[in-house]
Amino acid sequence: MKSDVEIAREAKLRPITEIAAALGIDADTIEPYGRYKAKLTRESLAGAHGKQGKLILVTAINPTPAGEGKTTTSVGLADALHRQGKKTIVALREPSLGPCFGMKGGAAGGGYAQVVPMEDINLHFTGDFHAITTAHNLLAALIDNHIFQGNALDLDVNRIVWKRVLDINDRALRHVVTGLGGRVHGVPRESGFDITVASEMMAILCLAEDLADMKQRLGRILIGYTRGGRPVHAEELGATGALTLLFKDAVKPNLVQTIEGTPALIHGGPFANIAHGCSSVAATKAALRCADCVVTEAGFGADLGAEKFFDIKCRLAGLAPDAVVIVATVRALKMNGGAAKSDLGTENLDALRRGAANLEKHIENIGKFGVPAVVAVNVFPTDTEAELALLEELCARLGAPAVRSEVWAKGGEGGLAMADAVDAALRQPAHFHPIYDAAKPIAEKIETIAREIYGADGVDFTDAAKKQLAEMDALGMTETPVCMAKTQYSFSDNPALLGRPTGFRITVRELRASCGAGFVVALTGNVLTMPGLPKVPAAMGMDITADGVITGLF
Ligand code: ADP
Ligand code: MG
Repeated sequence: MKSDVEIAREAKLRPITEIAAALGIDADTIEPYGRYKAKLTRESLAGAHGKQGKLILVTAINPTPAGEGKTTTSVGLADALHRQGKKTIVALREPSLGPCFGMKGGAAGGGYAQVVPMEDINLHFTGDFHAITTAHNLLAALIDNHIFQGNALDLDVNRIVWKRVLDINDRALRHVVTGLGGRVHGVPRESGFDITVASEMMAILCLAEDLADMKQRLGRILIGYTRGGRPVHAEELGATGALTLLFKDAVKPNLVQTIEGTPALIHGGPFANIAHGCSSVAATKAALRCADCVVTEAGFGADLGAEKFFDIKCRLAGLAPDAVVIVATVRALKMNGGAAKSDLGTENLDALRRGAANLEKHIENIGKFGVPAVVAVNVFPTDTEAELALLEELCARLGAPAVRSEVWAKGGEGGLAMADAVDAALRQPAHFHPIYDAAKPIAEKIETIAREIYGADGVDFTDAAKKQLAEMDALGMTETPVCMAKTQYSFSDNPALLGRPTGFRITVRELRASCGAGFVVALTGNVLTMPGLPKVPAAMGMDITADGVITGLF
């Protein structure tokens, strides 16, 4: 079997100007980064057809640790719709370098459903993450310098909430002490590093409408508290202009293509736990202006990804999704039905039947948002015909049309049945609405998500979280959406409770104000914002020859 990078290398890429032209975008208005990547500018959309395209969200059941194929399915679905003659764009997140060198698995799709040039997209791409890392760390440096230079704001060094970031998995940087080495080297204080995708600036980039909005949001970032307990925001350091300047190119969506030549906009990539996990609003809106169909992906399972796509991204950006594709796999459903992770390649109809309860709950949940749903069964080489037939039969009983997707093995051709099912869903009326009213108290919003989406009996707040709940008032953060940070493996906050658990409660341990992004993060369980590398990092299998041939990049 060919590796992803081998398949990608065989693809005949079209010049990016041609991809733009097919969308009605004048080649003179794009900013090419080499021959196969470009940034869209405001002028690029001047000639767009202006009609609003259909917005299709690709989400999934609760996954196994390997991921269930949302990106692969998104790319393949876009290729299939494109084959059927629809002007289609796939809008995806930019991969982070952290997981790229950590666990095996890129984020540019897989098999015959990939975006290209995958080695660029998976590595430095057009430098957006570099811009975020730099802006984030500039703000951190300005904070420490402010303290060093006399601390006019009277910042409490023990209550600075703005850390530093790096786009590498490095557990040794989770907790650090800065400012060591004596008086001239700064004021010592405890801090730490997060991975770049966990930066609030990443979430801001993905929610901002334009550079002006970006500037407002960067200024509102909470950096810490004074010794008297007053919250201090970034604008008080007087560098909002400089921070915004660093985003002058990063705010522009990146245009690339799939291996079948379907246009792709890849822009932004916020964490799906402490942030909302969707690609940028700017890219989604640009895509909707140029295409008839826009396929986009939200991170993690639908309990987190779709909920935040709807309640945060769509609500804040005024988007109304038209259809949802729920990606299900035989192996993840078997795991949800109790099969061991090491046994997922063995036929197990009983486990599949039990695990289908997980899919059932996700189907019900999408219905609660008023959007028609299709189940895409992402076929893996290990699936047996009996398992696939059983899953189709179970879906028919759950009232959602199920189709097999073979885009990983066959590209767009393997997604034609899925495209037909999506087309049928798009003909149904969608009545999208968020699940909670943002004006309700924070605790009530969390309670609604927990009961309606997770199936929990209720929510408990630790004493620390209760205290923070009160602080949100002073920050003016009570009428914003809530961003849930929870394990992706279970509907509950316990990763071991698979399937469709009942009789559980959710514990909120901490609340954080993302004042710039415009949401309150509710943390359940332990959420790591700086991952570590595994025992055998993917980096150890990678290489490049003297003439530039890459191996091991999945
Ligand atoms: P997600 O977006 O849900 O995290 P991806 O689409 O990135 O998932 O896929 C995760 C991994 O699984 C990738 O390495 C991809 O190549 C692989 N994969 C996806 N679909 C299939 C399939 N049908 N058969 C085999 N491998 C697959
Ligand atoms: Mg993905």
